[in-house]
Amino acid sequence: MRDCFSDRASWIELDKVAFENNVKSYRSELSSSQKLGSVLKGNAYGHGLCQTWSILSPLVDVLFVIDPCDAFSIRDWETKQSKARQRIVVLGAVSWQEAAQCAAQGIEVVIDGPHWKEYAEAKHPKLKVHVHMDTGLGREGFTLENLEQKISFLKENPTCFEVVGVMSHFADVEDVTHQEYALDQLKNFEQATDVLKTTLPKQAVLERHIAQSASTMILNASHCDLSRVGIGLYGLWPSSETKISAKVMHAQLPTLKPALSWKCKSQLIKHVSAGSCVGYGCTYKAPRDLRVCLLPVGYFDGYPRLLSNKAHVLVNGHQCKVLGRVMMNHIVIDITDATKNDDPVVATLLGTDGNERISAEQMAAWAETINYEIVTRIGPHLKRIIK
Ligand SMILES: *Cc1c(COP(=O)(O)O)cnc(C)c1O
Repeated sequence: MRDCFSDRASWIELDKVAFENNVKSYRSELSSSQKLGSVLKGNAYGHGLCQTWSILSPLVDVLFVIDPCDAFSIRDWETKQSKARQRIVVLGAVSWQEAAQCAAQGIEVVIDGPHWKEYAEAKHPKLKVHVHMDTGLGREGFTLENLEQKISFLKENPTCFEVVGVMSHFADVEDVTHQEYALDQLKNFEQATDVLKTTLPKQAVLERHIAQSASTMILNASHCDLSRVGIGLYGLWPSSETKISAKVMHAQLPTLKPALSWKCKSQLIKHVSAGSCVGYGCTYKAPRDLRVCLLPVGYFDGYPRLLSNKAHVLVNGHQCKVLGRVMMNHIVIDITDATKNDDPVVATLLGTDGNERISAEQMAAWAETINYEIVTRIGPHLKRIIK
């Protein structure tokens, strides 16, 4: 995390109560023996790794990250704050040196392919590992074909590997309301688990995990021993299809409360007269005299350039249009109807102001993407405050 944040930059507010609500909603989907894991990859989906860790760590059973450096940071914070070590699983790529460091710090890793035998060949320290099965996503993991042979190195090197889990990841839960593909993946997953169990003798119980936010909510058969919930714990629905499926399946739709708001103080308020242009390319021409506000936020901070001339932000509970292009470090908004004078204002880019709300989904629609990308791309250089 940075030590120095500009006082003039936009900032992120995190709602601790919203996180608590979302954990509760997800816990209520699981039985008491099923564990809840929180996915903190991508700077905790843009919410800020350190802040999100401090809120979620006491509330969940396992933390998942992609980058081993994030796992090492968490171990550092635990030591500095005299907190007990939480279970951490690194889902992403690691070098052998990082893997050895994980072993030393009690961090679990995921074995994503046969090249992992090199770890054993170099006689590295013993590591707790989860075997990643590619059951249909076509991304990392072993396919079922010749699985026994491909994972034999795990059995042959018991001093290097302690296999504690088997995992997979769904390809097509969020985009559909019928889950045939996911059910096929579950069958493959069961088959793979059986192969693993017979190939790895004297094995302790394998922890099985495949569910992410969407399937934890709408496909009970996917729960297994542990869920890896990302977007849902931040209070965002994985997709509208998932929300529709969840509505059908639940007597009462579980509540997810967005934990993140994005705010920005005005840099300058000024008047532009009818006919004058705003921003690069002169793509906006004022149709009348306007009071406009310059906000020090732009695409460098993660405010998508696709929002040029399309989006609005909120000031005093009013929608204020983004005028002209989104620039690297600036946007200009129309506050003519939102204010009565030229006093400084605070704009809400994401979140609630009065009766108005700008959701990550709304911003994603403007930017032709998904809510995941909107929040994850919010610059790590911005200050995150827990409310
Ligand atoms: C990102 C990710 C998740 C979490 O997905 P959400 O849809 O955000 O819940 C779970 N498992 C793996 C392997 C992932 O990469």
